Amino acid sequence: MRKIIVFSLVLFMGSLSYARSHIPHVHGEAQMNMVIDRGILQIDLRFPAESVLGFEHKPATKAEIKSLADVKSQLSDPMLFGFYTKRGFFKKESLLDASQSNLDIHFSFDEDLDHQHHDEHSEFKLTIEYMLPKNSEVTALSTKLFELFSDIHDIDLTIIFQDSSRTKEWESNQNKIKLKGVSK
Ligand SMILES: [Zn+2]
Repeated sequence: MRKIIVFSLVLFMGSLSYARSHIPHVHGEAQMNMVIDRGILQIDLRFPAESVLGFEHKPATKAEIKSLADVKSQLSDPMLFGFYTKRGFFKKESLLDASQSNLDIHFSFDEDLDHQHHDEHSEFKLTIEYMLPKNSEVTALSTKLFELFSDIHDIDLTIIFQDSSRTKEWESNQNKIKLKGVSK
């Protein structure tokens, strides 16, 4: 049953990102979908290459190729996202021991857009999957994204949990956000 739910969510999110890929991206803005389903948390994140690389053409020089590799290694940081829960008598917020089970970083160069508009755009697409400890509730979310890349100023966050979907604007001055009323 769980497989069916995950599969239909992936299809749903796939069609969302397909629709979005034809809308010009906005430099400085990231789009993020987060799905929590029975212990599996999946993040799909995309943002313009300009905001992290400083350019959107195909890397050609040695320096540009190195910049791309550096950005990819920064994005591979296992603490790029952190998940928190409230524990114990004092309901202290503590870091969940979420293990990263899958990471896919894709740098895509939009050839069609380039051809039609004589303009160059490219972006990063990340898919990260985590296994959450059993029966854990995520009450807060942190990111290093704003700290690593100061040109990203907000994330349009969509959270899909228990057949409902909520959106939230995550501003760069918040390294951590509460998910109260979102995760349950
Ligand atoms: Zn662009």
